[in-house]
Amino acid sequence: MLKERRKQHEIYPYYTRAHRAVQPSSAMPPCTLRDCPDYDALVLALARSRMAPVTTPQASLATIGDGAIALTDALVALRRDLHMHPELSGDERRTAGLVASRLRQLGLEVEEHVGGYGVVGVLQGAHPGPTLAYRADMDALPIQEISDRPYASLSLGVSHACGHDAHVTVALGAAELLAGLRSDLHGRVVFIFQPAEESLDGARVMIEAGLLERYQPAAMLALHVSPLQVGTVGIAEDRCLAGMEEFHVRFYTPGGDLEALVGEAATALQALSTHEGPQDAAQFEALAQQMETGSGLDRAVFVSCWSNLEEQAPAYHLLGLASLTDFDQRPALQCQIRRTLDRVVDRYDATYDLAVTFVNPPLRNASALVAEIRPALERLPGVDRVRLFHDPYPFSHEDLALFAARVPTAFVWLGTANARRGFTSMLHTPDFDIDEDALVIGTQVAAAALLHLSEAWR
Ligand SMILES: [Zn+2]
Repeated sequence: MLKERRKQHEIYPYYTRAHRAVQPSSAMPPCTLRDCPDYDALVLALARSRMAPVTTPQASLATIGDGAIALTDALVALRRDLHMHPELSGDERRTAGLVASRLRQLGLEVEEHVGGYGVVGVLQGAHPGPTLAYRADMDALPIQEISDRPYASLSLGVSHACGHDAHVTVALGAAELLAGLRSDLHGRVVFIFQPAEESLDGARVMIEAGLLERYQPAAMLALHVSPLQVGTVGIAEDRCLAGMEEFHVRFYTPGGDLEALVGEAATALQALSTHEGPQDAAQFEALAQQMETGSGLDRAVFVSCWSNLEEQAPAYHLLGLASLTDFDQRPALQCQIRRTLDRVVDRYDATYDLAVTFVNPPLRNASALVAEIRPALERLPGVDRVRLFHDPYPFSHEDLALFAARVPTAFVWLGTANARRGFTSMLHTPDFDIDEDALVIGTQVAAAALLHLSEAWR
């Protein structure tokens, strides 16, 4: 998950560092489902056309619950190994190799190098049924970890500050549990290990490599660690995360105070934000309560600016990211940006050019799919509480959105915070870490949701 932080002028947004203009290429297959006006009706019809309603037998959920608990030590060891060996976007060689060999050990069919270091593992069930996909991202961030834990990152300047080490661990844990339940499984599960999420490249390159045409999943699931309390799971009924545009301003002035001009413009543009990003788990919790009640975050705007970066942008350039939970607001925001810049340059007798680039669409869940899996998650032994969010989280982005525009998708927030044990940091911060109890819970959530869908949609 690519996350923006306020007051971060010294850190250039990671995805633009190597990819100045990330756009879906023209070779990208067209959206097939999300563009269809009856998208949700289609998902619902798909579910109802099967033997509905199906309740996953408690025995299967208990098997998953106990099975995940039995894996505790292995999950923790794997997560710590990945945490100590983080790899940047597009460079996930070790992680991908480890994933592929583990999937082969479990008896899955494995495809490697699907869009860079992408790995796909197919678990074939014993009975006919749907193809379900589960996606985990693998990459780390260019952030120096601050940690005195024995499993701290061994790579200078690189760390799993977004919890993708936990995502890989949970996906492999779910693959192991479901491999043991193959005789109960209908259809097949395609485990997708995606590279380069932080650079917002990985989903696109996997799609361009023909992943979706080859496997044609009927639904896709994914989870992400979050500063919710461990034991809690959150799921948005529809809108999950903001979409993002990049804007690039170039100023021209006959000789005024360029630095003051750029600074004033940055401050004025950031003031267009409707909300402040949370700085810790307590502030995240306050926001989560807003997301639950649905109080205006569906039209949130968040603007961050960067300037004065030598090799990427000399002082007369200003780079900004605009996050919008409702992409229909893009023209209005662009007008506001122009009006703001007009006002500032007027005072300095300057002019400017503005270029706006689409970066990533908002992430939306398929509500019918959420309604289908939620009851199964509520019955899991490790899950204390499933929270349903009516509003999206406006400060992060996910290139899972590119999959979700083509395949009905459910994205689940996995609580990993625990103030009592000192895990309260936000994602993308140097001291981010998780309560490892979440690994067992995440494995239960992933395996139970997949098993439930395989039975419900058989
Ligand atoms: Zn992430």
